[in-house]
Amino acid sequence: MRLELPILATGSVAMAAAALYYATVAVRSQWLGRTYWRGRGDRNAVALTFDDGPSPDTERILDVLGAHEASATFFMVGREVESFPGIAQRVLAEGHEVGNHSYSHPSYLFQRASETDAQIRHTQSIIAETTGVRPQMARPPYGVRTPAYFLATRALDLQTVQWDVAGFDWKRITAQRIADNVLRKAQPGSIILLHDGDSAGKNARKNTVEALPLIIRGLRDRDLQIAPLSRLLPEKTYNLTKVKRIHD
Ligand SMILES: [Zn+2]
Repeated sequence: MRLELPILATGSVAMAAAALYYATVAVRSQWLGRTYWRGRGDRNAVALTFDDGPSPDTERILDVLGAHEASATFFMVGREVESFPGIAQRVLAEGHEVGNHSYSHPSYLFQRASETDAQIRHTQSIIAETTGVRPQMARPPYGVRTPAYFLATRALDLQTVQWDVAGFDWKRITAQRIADNVLRKAQPGSIILLHDGDSAGKNARKNTVEALPLIIRGLRDRDLQIAPLSRLLPEKTYNLTKVKRIHD
């Protein structure tokens, strides 16, 4: 018995840790709240999403998207919107969508509920005041969702959107590898994760910029259109009348 107890205890700690990991980190988990990780598959379209900006590289990404007439969704970090307000405005002016990606890119797992709430609320205000558009979608840093996160996003009517395809552009890999990572997995309804900024402020997104034309061409060669994220989410969850610019 003496021997078994520690083993049992270790086992249940491991199980609790696994459950916590699944509930908070596994990008597709629905345990704590509704989470979209793939869009509708009946439109033969995918959505491109960019996290952690705006940054100077965002401008290059906007140039590529514009040249290819493709639209995307940018999950912005409030602190970076304060640093690059003009770039945030350009994202919206060029017809792209915006989402809330926290104020300073913490993991919500290690925060008090009030801090998580403040991160999300503050970023809503910064994005709305800077761009004139109030986000309707949120994506938590590292994909980590906690009960406090869902409490805050529900209060602000924010839909949580993760991804099913990643370019893994946060790793040190070539543009071709980033494009291959996306094209190998993309299918109708896919939500593709890329980065136009770096939460640690270390890496430029040159490789992502170079990968983007390869990704757009590769998707279109497979007859996959590139659509705004809102077109891939169920219509009742995304009320287009609320997207109206708040300062118009
Ligand atoms: Zn991020």
